[in-house]
Amino acid sequence: DCLIHIKNGDQYSSDSQEIDDFNVIVEVIHLCGGKHRLIPSPFANDKKKPVANIAKFVRTPMPPKEKLKLRPPVVTIMGHVDHGKTSLLDALRNSNIVSSEFGGITQHIGAFIVPVSKSSTVTFIDTPGHLAFAEMRARGAQVTDIVVLVVAADDGVMPQTVESIAHANRAKVPIVVAINKIDKADANVKHTETMLAEQGLQLESIGGDVVGVPISALKNINIDKLLESILAVAELQQLRGDSSGPVEGTVIESKHEETVSGTDEFDTNQKKGNLATILVQRGELKKGTILLAGQSVARVRALYNERGIQIERATLSMPVQVSGWKTLPAAGDEVFEVESENLANRIAAQRRAEEVAQKMEVDAVAVTQKHEDHLQKYRAELKRRRELGIVFRKRDKGSGQHIEDKEEKLKYSILIKTDVFGSLEALTNIVNMYNDTRCPLDVVDASVGAVNDDDLEAAKLFNATIYAFNTNVSQSVALEAGRQQVPIRTFNVIYHMLNDIKGELTKRIPSTE
Ligand code: GDP
Repeated sequence: DCLIHIKNGDQYSSDSQEIDDFNVIVEVIHLCGGKHRLIPSPFANDKKKPVANIAKFVRTPMPPKEKLKLRPPVVTIMGHVDHGKTSLLDALRNSNIVSSEFGGITQHIGAFIVPVSKSSTVTFIDTPGHLAFAEMRARGAQVTDIVVLVVAADDGVMPQTVESIAHANRAKVPIVVAINKIDKADANVKHTETMLAEQGLQLESIGGDVVGVPISALKNINIDKLLESILAVAELQQLRGDSSGPVEGTVIESKHEETVSGTDEFDTNQKKGNLATILVQRGELKKGTILLAGQSVARVRALYNERGIQIERATLSMPVQVSGWKTLPAAGDEVFEVESENLANRIAAQRRAEEVAQKMEVDAVAVTQKHEDHLQKYRAELKRRRELGIVFRKRDKGSGQHIEDKEEKLKYSILIKTDVFGSLEALTNIVNMYNDTRCPLDVVDASVGAVNDDDLEAAKLFNATIYAFNTNVSQSVALEAGRQQVPIRTFNVIYHMLNDIKGELTKRIPSTE
């Protein structure tokens, strides 16, 4: 038991380090299961900076409608698994390279632009499909103007097609249907159209008002027509934005990049540290702009487009990777330009303090319990390992036979690593729903970043397979994993990774059931 008295008041300046220290202390008391009382806001006694000043961020009002400028549409691709979302994104990305005067390889920053004509472009969101869309909407962020619904003509309407339609309808976002795989012998466009009509989507071809384009993502058929249809639907929507106000936007993805060892000439190798892809929704983003996103602050150091090339400014509907963040913002966070770094830091600190205070009140008990459970699990596992080790040695000496651990067969332990928060959230949300009691899935740990030695140790301890999604496995880690016999599986497509996990679970279910 201890009593820590954190003296408030004039000790608190706008120095965010002090606020961080405060948060750390509170967190420690909290994790130790200590009793605590947080007495008002850390700023309550600070006369120089009244709470009202820092707690509220006042958004600059929008100018009248006639002052707003037309802007390019922002599109999300949705549809059933294996119907061709990834292939379509690839086809669109390639059309980007062909028509781009700069060339360069499109990198994954969470969104990219496709030029359609001299004056028009379309922005495609490229984070894990409808999962990202749902996550962002759940956080109240709306970035999508149009949904392109991919339906494979050889398969027709499937459960996730229906789900995608519901998502788009709920968000009141118009749908453009891409009937894919028309190159296949068993493609049945008519049947697909009928199935879509049953879901309330009457395509123009059968007298309705929903635009549908038969395409082949694989064979690059009608991709240009699809782009034109998207522009036509966008024109009807009259999408407009304020191009001259203070910057506003949404975080599409964020990641920490240790070093970038690019090989092509366009990669300037300057990217380091915290990066966040922002979709610009107001104003013009430039170097030096002060941004606030959730609890994170940036003085924009550099802007990169999807080809990794530094650009001077990003305008409405442009996705741009921004460096200069002190901490990583999360996908879905709203972004605002703030007049000074000092003010931005104070708002961020206030938000952090509020969150900590709230968290403490709401789930102090839960956190302590979780910690305790975790420790117990570790201890029990260690004990079991030791006991098993003894058994192993005994038997090995006698017969030299390989012994299988039956218990282990009935559960599948995994450790997840991903490149960005967006995919981590999406993956863990889904994986946590796998609760087949015949073979439980045990997620030992899940975090953002490259696979490291700690992960190997944890995986070894829990006999877990490491799943690396879009993230690095350095040669030294791979070698060490080989030595320690820790399996690492890498994936770039979310569905492939989920299928692999499902496959492993199925394998482990006893065949008698
Ligand atoms: P996703 O799960 O929706 O992202 O689907 P993918 O893009 O991964 O595609 C699933 C499979 O369908 C892959 O094997 C693709 O090569 C294939 N595919 C995608 N588009 C087409 C197409 O237009 N024609 C044909 N024949 N195959 C396609």
